[in-house]
Amino acid sequence: MTAQLIDGNALARTIRAEVAGRTQALTARGVQPHLSIILVGDDPASQVYTRHKVNDSTETGLSATLERYPADMSEADLLARIRTLNDDPKVHGILVQLPLPKHMDSQKVIETISPAKDVDGFHIASAGALMIGAKGFWPCTPYGCMKMLESIGYQLRGKHAVVIGRSNIVGKPMAMMLLAQSATVTICHSATADLGAITRQADVIVAAVGKRNVLTADMVKPGAVVIDVGMNRNDEGKLCGDVDFEGVRQVASWITPVPGGVGPMTRAMLLVNTIEAAERQSS
Ligand code: NAP
Repeated sequence: MTAQLIDGNALARTIRAEVAGRTQALTARGVQPHLSIILVGDDPASQVYTRHKVNDSTETGLSATLERYPADMSEADLLARIRTLNDDPKVHGILVQLPLPKHMDSQKVIETISPAKDVDGFHIASAGALMIGAKGFWPCTPYGCMKMLESIGYQLRGKHAVVIGRSNIVGKPMAMMLLAQSATVTICHSATADLGAITRQADVIVAAVGKRNVLTADMVKPGAVVIDVGMNRNDEGKLCGDVDFEGVRQVASWITPVPGGVGPMTRAMLLVNTIEAAERQSS
């Protein structure tokens, strides 16, 4: 079997077009959806990510501003700036780019964002909403993975989904989203004994670890669906995922590539959360 690809670039294009339509509808009513992004310090990767977020937004008709502050900005000043944005009715989404400088408490900073504007979905209120099935914002990466499964018409009900990784921004919310679709979910992590014995039982595997070749062909049941969240560099310095793509694609039924898989979907889902935030605040 050679797996079919779930094309994250193509799906992200479709989603961006949907967001553009919703944005147009809102602007026609006199509301300009707006995302405020805050970047503290000069981490090179964060500079690239925030630039993408601004460009993605403006290409979709959303407006976006990037506020840059020096690495020695005080936490109190950052919290004060977030509170001002919370109170600004022209701002619908607020995103503080992580990681923050070490002298700041990231969780405290995130908790200062109004849950109504928490488009990253990292606020404890968003996590709680996901947990109980209430309306909140889903973190963009697992949300994008769910959209990828939806795009192939995959029915999760009664299926066994294995999530490798348990971070607060990917693994845990991913597991909750799969559970909400009535999958049976197993979460694995660095202390999991015999990972392969567990993944071989899985109908769906989501790898979110950050290590190359965490998932190899011998660990995958024939016909399983494999979603690769990982972002690593191979020996040639090229972007690759956590999955041994060439091996696993011979066994799986569907697989996401890296690059061109979860990455573009993560970017697209930020736009979805932003337009959603603007719609909720203006309804
Ligand atoms: P993280 O916070 O470092 O979490 C990694 C998880 O992997 C942890 O739960 C860890 O277990 C687990 N783990 C480590 N080694 C393992 C092993 N050998 N077997 C099984 N589990 C193992 O990372 P993250 O923020 O969730 O990100 C994970 C990966 O996804 C990274 O490569 C990141 O760059 C990528 N990512 C991609 C996107 C995208 O848009 N494509 C977005 C976000 C993240 P413990 O909890 O026991 O330590």
